[in-house]
Amino acid sequence: MRQTIILNVDDHEPNRYARSRLLIEAGYFVEEAGTGHDALKSVDACRPSLIMLDVNLPDINGFEVCRRIRENPHSAHTAVLQISASATSDFQRVTALDSGADAYLIEPVDAEVLLATVRALLRMRRAEEALQKSNAALQAANEALRLSNEDLQRFSYAASHDLQEPLRTISSFATLLHRGYRDKLDPEGGEFLTYIEKAASRMSLLVKDLLIYAQVGDQNAYAAKPVAIASVLLQAETNLEQSLAQAEAEVAHGELPTVLGNEGQLVQLFQNLIGNAVKYCALDHKPRVHIKAENHSGNEWLFAISDNGIGIAPDYQEVIFGAFKRLHGQDVPGTGIGLAICRRIVERHGGRIWVESSGVGHGATFFFTLQSCEN
Ligand code: ADP
Repeated sequence: MRQTIILNVDDHEPNRYARSRLLIEAGYFVEEAGTGHDALKSVDACRPSLIMLDVNLPDINGFEVCRRIRENPHSAHTAVLQISASATSDFQRVTALDSGADAYLIEPVDAEVLLATVRALLRMRRAEEALQKSNAALQAANEALRLSNEDLQRFSYAASHDLQEPLRTISSFATLLHRGYRDKLDPEGGEFLTYIEKAASRMSLLVKDLLIYAQVGDQNAYAAKPVAIASVLLQAETNLEQSLAQAEAEVAHGELPTVLGNEGQLVQLFQNLIGNAVKYCALDHKPRVHIKAENHSGNEWLFAISDNGIGIAPDYQEVIFGAFKRLHGQDVPGTGIGLAICRRIVERHGGRIWVESSGVGHGATFFFTLQSCEN
């Protein structure tokens, strides 16, 4: 293992000698310098772990030497212990620490105190180095993750985009077949055609939702600005107009704030959650949806979208946010991507989303947080 190098800087030779002996006896490798210039040269040449720096040097003042040590990228994080016999005032102590020293001792310094201070500073430096290493590793891992996410993003976008084209062809030829040849097919042939049409429209829904899911993940498409939730809700309700009217659903809300976010994505979020509240309604009563927002911890809004629908059993309250996770068969139309899109949108906005329900038959409340504009 490489021996720890300490650079001992002092123009007073007997002092320098005595300290070097002490350090060598304690197991350190010691380099010496008698002037500020020599000290700065040695810093580059021997890369010490700690510099013991006398304040009164004949050429450059010790405070200035310390500042230059900090400016040098090779020694910016090297531990510096300043020692002075004359600069003993609080002001000088403050100047030393402000110019980058990690500790400041005043002569006469007891040998044990000196060695204990050296050990403490080296411990601090090692901890700092370990932290830097793990930060660098973390940054590298983050970058690799970012690149692979971008790849995946591009892939899913391209895949879902390109899938639409052949799908449109299948759908339009199935429609043509239906219109022009349905009478010529026997009952079994007609049934097969219906399967093709149904599968094509289901596939089209899946591709459309996958495309939305991929787009929500696209960092470049995300631009946050103040968004009034009242306007978001209005747009979501307009998009859901038909299903709301069909189910005779009522959507009520309290006061709604302005948040920081991406308007298009927030419309999608509200639309998916309100759409589900209506879709998963109980058979015996009309859907009633209530939206509430409350200021949570100053810079966050907590939204709650409650319904009086079929509710969700506790075991499924987490899984339903995964892509393609559905609790229903094809009797209820859907792709199982809606809530995965919601989670992606909320997380993109720096928030959290979850559901609470006392179980089947008790309605459900979807909670999510969004950043307030005052951040
Ligand atoms: P989809 O509605 O297309 O199936 P989602 O991802 O939107 O997909 O929802 C996943 C599942 O979560 C649904 O299949 C449904 O079982 C359940 N779910 C979602 N919203 C509600 C709700 N408001 N009440 C009861 N169940 C719900």
